[in-house]
Amino acid sequence: MIRTRFAPSPTGYIHVGNVRAALFPWLLARQQGGKFILRIEDTDQARFVEGATDLILDTLDWLGLSWDEGPRVGGEHGPYFQTERRDIYKQWAQKLIDAGLAYADPYTPEQVQGFRELAKAAKKPFLYRDYRPTKTPEWDGTQPLRFKVTNIKRYTWNDPVMGELSTGEEVLDDFILIKSDGLPTYNFAHIVDDYEMGVTHVIRGLEYISSIPRYLSLYEALQIEPPVLACLPHIMAPDGKKKLGKRDGAKSVTDYRTDGILPETMLNFLASMGWNDGTEQEIFSREELVEKFSLERVQKSGARFDEQRLLWLNGQWIRRISLDDLYGRVEPYWPEAARAASPEDRRAVLALVQDRLKTLAELPLLTSYFFTEPTPNWSMIDDNKQLKKLSREEHLQLLTAAKGALEQSDFTAEKLQETLNNLLEATGQKPGILFSLIRFALTWAPFSPGLPETMAVLGRERTLARLQTAIAAA
Ligand code: GLU
Repeated sequence: MIRTRFAPSPTGYIHVGNVRAALFPWLLARQQGGKFILRIEDTDQARFVEGATDLILDTLDWLGLSWDEGPRVGGEHGPYFQTERRDIYKQWAQKLIDAGLAYADPYTPEQVQGFRELAKAAKKPFLYRDYRPTKTPEWDGTQPLRFKVTNIKRYTWNDPVMGELSTGEEVLDDFILIKSDGLPTYNFAHIVDDYEMGVTHVIRGLEYISSIPRYLSLYEALQIEPPVLACLPHIMAPDGKKKLGKRDGAKSVTDYRTDGILPETMLNFLASMGWNDGTEQEIFSREELVEKFSLERVQKSGARFDEQRLLWLNGQWIRRISLDDLYGRVEPYWPEAARAASPEDRRAVLALVQDRLKTLAELPLLTSYFFTEPTPNWSMIDDNKQLKKLSREEHLQLLTAAKGALEQSDFTAEKLQETLNNLLEATGQKPGILFSLIRFALTWAPFSPGLPETMAVLGRERTLARLQTAIAAA
């Protein structure tokens, strides 16, 4: 049975790459009827951030990436926090010590720095094992414990994404297993944990690929059969040239969530960063991803982070969900003034803008004029390419004519459309001019839904009053 895992470090910031590293193993586990395990790698005390674990768990919950074992749910292979597994690492470390494959590091940091400088002067890459001490003290837990790599050889392995890989002995070294603070390094802990937790497929970012020969040398020393080791391509900055960094405008996944990116969108977006199903299809639901995902179709080359595409996808997903569903989700995003309106009115407004929203956080921008009287701003008309061709006199004549016609009209969208069409004929204007002018006078917003629908939701009284206010403010 397939067992995959996500092993985040609680550092407080959740990068899109972190969540992709959860999604791909989750997809594989769900597709193959396997198990998905969540393990918190909290051994780096310097990077530890209070509350970061909850943030990770909440983000996974939000995305619907449920885990079968781990924090909050328990399981047979716990504890699932590395800081609670010290005894397990100690036991494995002792096995290595007993086999003569681990030793207490007797050097001070200054001495190690001295070795580095020696290597540099000799124009050689620094390898600790070149300076391996001949005599070492008994390990008492206060010195770092180092691996003693003895099988210096070339390692070859097959990465389901990156293909057949191999590296030379120059990368093998006596790396630290347990630090002087008593906590294990990632290099040691993840190997022990993946084994103890029965993980069959390790799927993680490409930044780990160069260390894999070291891991393989440790697996060998521990007499553990390595699991499948897969690396996901880097996520590249929008220019496609360098790895995506914080400066490239990409926000943390929690920030995108606050902005009103839907979880459906985020999953769809993350999956497409490095994977496709070989067709032109762009919209994938969670179920479709589970069905279609395969590690073999993950691309080797870097995946470009494209925020415009994220917004486009979100617009697509906002359209796809039902009005009821959307109504529930936009609850925290309404402009303040909307809270006084009835649920029916808010719903009617939402129906009008559903096709135009790109993020839920845009809701106030697109709807506030339904709930608050906008302030006339004639410079919007004067700056408009089409409308500035007309004189103020002509603007006012048209608005007055509109007001007169609308006074006679029924206020259903259908009837209003008819009234507007008649008005077009009567005034001999182009829709681009007449309708834009009325739209500005009613909303004073850069864009709005269709004019008849907007007027129908505003209702007769407010529509006529706003036209009057616009005319008076000219
Ligand atoms: N704790 C590591 C990280 O957050 C996990 C890497 C792995 O998946 O093994 O990058």
